[in-house]
Amino acid sequence: MRADRVWTNARIATCSAGAEGLGVIEYGAIAATGGRISFVGPAKDAPGANEVIDCGGRWITPGLIDCHTHLVHGGNRAHEFELRLAGATYEEIARAGGGIVSTVAATRAASEADLVASALPRLDALIADGVTTVEIKSGYGLDLATETRMLKAARQLAHERSVEIVTTFLGAHAVPPKTASADAHIDAVVAMLPQVALHADAVDAFCESIAFSPAQTERVFAAAAAHGLRVKLHADQLSNSGGAALAARYNALSADHLEFTDVAGVAAMAAHGTVAVLLPGAYYFVRETQLPPITALRAAGVPIAVATDCNPGTSPLTSLLLAMNMAATCFRLTVEECLLGVTRNAARALGRDADIGSIESGKLCNLAVWDIERPAELVYRMGMSPLHARVFGGEMTGKCA
Ligand SMILES: [Zn+2]
Repeated sequence: MRADRVWTNARIATCSAGAEGLGVIEYGAIAATGGRISFVGPAKDAPGANEVIDCGGRWITPGLIDCHTHLVHGGNRAHEFELRLAGATYEEIARAGGGIVSTVAATRAASEADLVASALPRLDALIADGVTTVEIKSGYGLDLATETRMLKAARQLAHERSVEIVTTFLGAHAVPPKTASADAHIDAVVAMLPQVALHADAVDAFCESIAFSPAQTERVFAAAAAHGLRVKLHADQLSNSGGAALAARYNALSADHLEFTDVAGVAAMAAHGTVAVLLPGAYYFVRETQLPPITALRAAGVPIAVATDCNPGTSPLTSLLLAMNMAATCFRLTVEECLLGVTRNAARALGRDADIGSIESGKLCNLAVWDIERPAELVYRMGMSPLHARVFGGEMTGKCA
C-alpha cells in the first residue's frame, strides 16, 4: 500500500522494546499512513509514498516525551530565588509572600486564557527540543474552580500547538491557605474528583512530611480508582515515607523523584511495573545531595524515565535535553538510559506506551530529526538543541519544520 509520506536515508534509533540498546537501523526509512507509522526498516524495503523526504543521513528518534511537568501556572518565583541568594530565610521569604502560596495566588487570579498564554513560551521551549508529548499537572489552584481551569488550559495547549498533552490532577499538592487541616483538604480533593475526572488522565499526590501522609495519599488513590483513573506519586523526595512502595501497591503508573526510596520501595516498584521518573532539574535547583537509588533500580529492572519537573518553585527548567544532561551528570545515567528515559519509558509512565515512545509500525508517527553524528550528542550538549525537524502525527511541524 502507498504511504502518505516516507522519510528515507536516515539513521533511526527506534527505542523499541524488543530491540537491543536503542534499536538502531542504519540506512533506514520510516513511512507514515493516516498519521501512524506504517513501515520502519531498511530504506531499500520502504514502500512507495506520495511524498519522499531525504534525511541526508540524519538521526531520527521517537518524538521526545516530558512525562512530569507543572507547565501551567500563574506568575514565577524569580524574586524569591533572588531573596534566597541574598541570604533571606524561609520565614522572611514567606513574609514577603513567597513559597507555593504565591503561585497559588497568581494561578487563582489568572483566567484560562492567561494560563494558556503564559504556558506557551515554556511549551515552545520544549517543542524546540523535539518534544511531542507533555504531561501537565494541576495543583496550584487547590480549589475546584482553579484546578479545573488549570486542566482545561493544559488541554487547550494541544489546540495551540502540534503536541499531545496528557493531564494529571494534583489537588493533593499542598494544604491551601485558610484550610483547617491536611485532612480537611483531602476531604475537598476527594469531593473534587468526580468533576475534575472529566479533564484529567491521571491523579497525582505529594506524599511528604511537608505535604500529605501515606494515609492521606491512600484516600486520594482510592477515590481515583473509584473514578477509573490511574495514579502517580511525588514520592520520597525529601525523606523516606514509603511513598514508592505505596504507589506500587496502587499499581501507580510511576513514582517520581525517589531520592530517599529504599530497597523495599524499589522491589515493590519492580513487582508492580511502576516506572521510576527521575527529576534531575529539581535535584540540581534545590542543591539536593541524596542520590536516587540508581543501582538498585537497575538491578531490579525498574524502567527509568527522565523529565523536567518544570515548575516555578523547585525546577524552572524548560529543556528536556538539559534534563538528560543533568541525569547523566548528576545521576550517572548512561546515554541509552537517558534516551529511553524520554521515549519508551516516559510513554510507559503516562500509560501511553501502546501509541507513543518508540518507532514501531502501528504507533503514532511522532518523530524528532536531529543534526547530530551520534545519539550521545543529545545528552552531551548543554543549552543547544540540534533539532532539525519535528514530525507530529505524520506531519512535518514545530518550530524547525
Ligand atoms: Zn513535580
